[in-house]
Amino acid sequence: MNLTTKAKPQHAPMDQFKVHNNWLMVNGVSLERVKLRAGQTPFYAYDRSVISHKIAQLRQYMPQSLKLHYAMKANPMPAVVSFLNSQVDGIDVASGNELLVALNSGIAGHQISFAGPGKQSQELTMAIASSVTINVESFNELSNIARISDATGISAKVAVRVNPDFELKSSGMKMGGGPQQFGIDAEQVPKALLQIEALGLDYQGLHIFSGSQNLNQHAIMQTHRQIFELASRLQRSTNLELLTLNIGGGLGIPYFPGEMPLDIAPIGQALAELIDNLQAAHPNVEVAMELGRYIVGEAGIYVCEVVDIKESRGTRFAIVNGGLHHHLSASGNFGQVIRKNYPVAIGNKMISKKQSSDIAQNNTRLDQSVSQEKVSAEQLYPVQIVGPLCTPLDLLADKYELPAVEIGDLVVVYQSGAYGFTASPRDFLSHPQPVELLI
Ligand SMILES: *Cc1c(COP(=O)(O)O)cnc(C)c1O
Repeated sequence: MNLTTKAKPQHAPMDQFKVHNNWLMVNGVSLERVKLRAGQTPFYAYDRSVISHKIAQLRQYMPQSLKLHYAMKANPMPAVVSFLNSQVDGIDVASGNELLVALNSGIAGHQISFAGPGKQSQELTMAIASSVTINVESFNELSNIARISDATGISAKVAVRVNPDFELKSSGMKMGGGPQQFGIDAEQVPKALLQIEALGLDYQGLHIFSGSQNLNQHAIMQTHRQIFELASRLQRSTNLELLTLNIGGGLGIPYFPGEMPLDIAPIGQALAELIDNLQAAHPNVEVAMELGRYIVGEAGIYVCEVVDIKESRGTRFAIVNGGLHHHLSASGNFGQVIRKNYPVAIGNKMISKKQSSDIAQNNTRLDQSVSQEKVSAEQLYPVQIVGPLCTPLDLLADKYELPAVEIGDLVVVYQSGAYGFTASPRDFLSHPQPVELLI
């Protein structure tokens, strides 16, 4: 084996996509054909079969008593939301516009919940009129909801989003514990529950979400225990009946070298027991997990095309027609502290695993003096994949080992189904927009 290859941490295998004749396949369609269907590069393609497979895995390993919600801010493409609405038990929205997309997909208002700080009066009105559960984030929001409910004569369903008095360990992005713009501090929740009772709002329960992109199963299980404990403790301060406990999302997917997929089986087993215990004290409670990234992240690829190749002082650059403006997180500029490469491939030069290990062996034996002409297309070379923006931040892959890159090649960025298209500054530098396909 090539020692340098072996010593470096590898990306998790992206085997959710098949390969045929060296082309990457998206739900049975060759990338060559997908590109023609798209009518252009760059594009995002989402694979229905991968999404359904993730749901099936969750249904297999999570207890039946757990409701699965889709947190649609991860990927709000209307076709994706419509595809998912019959496969999940609910949809979580984060704005009035997301609420419209969710309702238009055909899901019932009572299956929708609405979280997020700073909800505006018109958004609250939309939610109340649609029988959506509003996850209340502040005392002002609570009075606003009561006022709108009075004015419209429509009862308002509310749950309290709790800012817990603990933190989710090993989470990529912390969203709970300490001072937060999210939720009502745990110590103030009893007061909020008193107000909900006094205002006559339709109390549903509690929402406790503390972080995103967690790949540590032990940390997740510990957080779940703390969430259930906190929910039981808070309920002891009120006579209002607990009907829902939303435990948030946050299950991670492997993006970077050395990261491994999460083992969700033990998480499901532990949850089954926690739910049983909670239901013993609160017989009508339903527990929901709201996942975004875990459901759609691995199902998406971002594809752009090599438009120029150049060498600069011994470093090879492949310049593509997409980049940071389409896929901020793959460029490393969406909350990452240290930039790391997303998994990348050349979609028209895919090689099987067996081939790639053979190549690694051959590479070690290759003499430095071998001429360029003899170099086979299956050898790997380090390359910088950069976009067209006038900033060094527009970097999609840094010193990435890929088959010899040529103009016209299709660069594929994996793990792009969540927080991609809509989480990117697509107007920056006014280049053309990518298109989105659900295949
Ligand atoms: C973003 C968000 C989620 C989903 O997080 P993922 O890490 O994508 O699973 C769930 N709940 C709330 C309230 C969110 O804001």
